Amino acid sequence: MVGVGITLFNSPREQAALRRAGRAAAGTLAHVSARLAAGVTTAEIDRWVREDTARRRGTPSQLGYQGFPAAVCTSRNHVVCHGIPRRDEALAPGDIVNVDVTTCLDGFHGDTSATFLVGDPGPEARHVVDVARRCRDAGIAVVRSGARLGDVGAAVEALARREGCSVVRDFGGHGIGRVMHAPPHVAHHGTRGTGLRLHAGMVFTIEPMVNLGGAEVRVLADGWTVVTADGSLSAQFEHTVLVTRDGYEVLTERGE
Ligand code: MG
Repeated sequence: MVGVGITLFNSPREQAALRRAGRAAAGTLAHVSARLAAGVTTAEIDRWVREDTARRRGTPSQLGYQGFPAAVCTSRNHVVCHGIPRRDEALAPGDIVNVDVTTCLDGFHGDTSATFLVGDPGPEARHVVDVARRCRDAGIAVVRSGARLGDVGAAVEALARREGCSVVRDFGGHGIGRVMHAPPHVAHHGTRGTGLRLHAGMVFTIEPMVNLGGAEVRVLADGWTVVTADGSLSAQFEHTVLVTRDGYEVLTERGE
């Protein structure tokens, strides 16, 4: 028993398609990162994502998803995730901003995000960004066939705590493949040795949201934008990962 609703992608053809989608998403994220600067609006980021995704013959998976009005999520400073790009929101020196790109290519999805520094943010902002990246990588590092989802959450949470940060519990990673969001839910907290057992061919995201203050969040009146309840800074990094027999393959590592 693999788990209810969980698809295994073990054929070379499916895995090749997942790699292509993952690389397209990573490539679009790199395209954005090369252009980010103070003064850029989050609406411009949305336009770049639409243009670059189209150039790769993909479509932005987020556009219209459950009514989401943009092609990308842009989450600045105390915004945890699902920020909506706006024409009146310009990046300012010292900001941190997460850009979350999901691309659908030939029927498969790839999902990746990174938090970027704008100008020269202070030490606290740099710290939360650094910890979020390391938390993602710590979660990925324990992935292999036979490991448990609780191992992933425990690894992420332990590092965040050690660094004086907290991990958001209300949102997590997700299975992905022929749809953007599928089972399993991937919590970024947990207990080692518990939870779903991983099998080769599973594909899911690891995307911890790490806060400088408390883990509590709230959703703004637009129904999408998630912010830290205490107004503290939040950072996030995300990769799409394929479980293999002896480890993992990151599908969104390198853009092309
Ligand atoms: Mg995701």
